[in-house]
Amino acid sequence: MVPQDINVDLHMHSTASDGVVTPCDLVERGLANQLQLMALTDHDTIDGLDQAREAAKDCRIGFLNGVEISVSWGGETLHLVGLGFDPRQGALAANLKALQLSRRERASAMDAGLQAHGLPSVLDDAMAYAGNPNLIGRTHFARALVARGVCYHVQDVFDRFLTPGKPGYVPHQWATLSEAMAWIQGSGGICVLAHPARYRLTDTARWALLQEFMALGGYAIEVSTGSHSLDDTQRYRQLSVELGLKASRGSDFHSPTESRCDVGAAPVLPDGCDPVWSGWAEQELCRLAGRI
Ligand code: AMP
Ligand code: MN
Ligand code: MN
Ligand code: MN
Repeated sequence: MVPQDINVDLHMHSTASDGVVTPCDLVERGLANQLQLMALTDHDTIDGLDQAREAAKDCRIGFLNGVEISVSWGGETLHLVGLGFDPRQGALAANLKALQLSRRERASAMDAGLQAHGLPSVLDDAMAYAGNPNLIGRTHFARALVARGVCYHVQDVFDRFLTPGKPGYVPHQWATLSEAMAWIQGSGGICVLAHPARYRLTDTARWALLQEFMALGGYAIEVSTGSHSLDDTQRYRQLSVELGLKASRGSDFHSPTESRCDVGAAPVLPDGCDPVWSGWAEQELCRLAGRI
């Protein structure tokens, strides 16, 4: 069995989506923090995986293919992490392409919303901040608006302009939960519900979400993540135990200046959790990790 106390980080972003560090440099940061098993989980793209996998191999860090898919559920946007899939199998890669195109259309609408509010057009700047022209997101707009001096910090841009009800926020229809889970599972991967505490859902809706996630074959929920407070972590530890779901750990690293946790430095899983990697025999890990 894979030892349970290894340093694992199954959630992070590179320049292929809205991170500021290249896939190779993410691996270097992980190495500096004694990371032993990692997954690159860029938003709606798998473009960084080849580079990260090669770098991880050179550094002798275990590597899983990953992705963080945007999902619309109950009027809220959820994030679903897929791990260990083979992008050459199934419909995952093709469906991510469609999501990327819809992001491009959303970006134009966001820019129009900001202009209607009296701000200059920053679409070109935001595209320039997107290291990957296929993947434009709100964070790229936030960085562009900070560079223009509209706000001091990315967080302020989100609070003033890019969250629901604000001028640059465009409601968007992402994938459904069952679609996104089917794409991941159809490519041989497993599904992890990302940072469950972050969603603005009633307790009843949250419970319904977890039930639906499990009915669709969900494997794990994130318990320790840079997006959870200590209270959130305890709450989701308890829920993972009650529901018999595995617990995942990930930094959700995006940038040295914007993120709470560095690569490989998310809080460790609390006692009593069943780590997502605990059931993997070395063989299973090799199967998941062997996907290219
Ligand atoms: P998008 O997928 O383009 O809608 O952008 C979502 C990303 O924006 C998240 O993954 C975070 O990186 C970032 N984000 C979302 N909400 C906030 C917030 N309130 N403050 C800072 N960053 C945020
Ligand atoms: Mn992000
Ligand atoms: Mn997320
Ligand atoms: Mn993330």
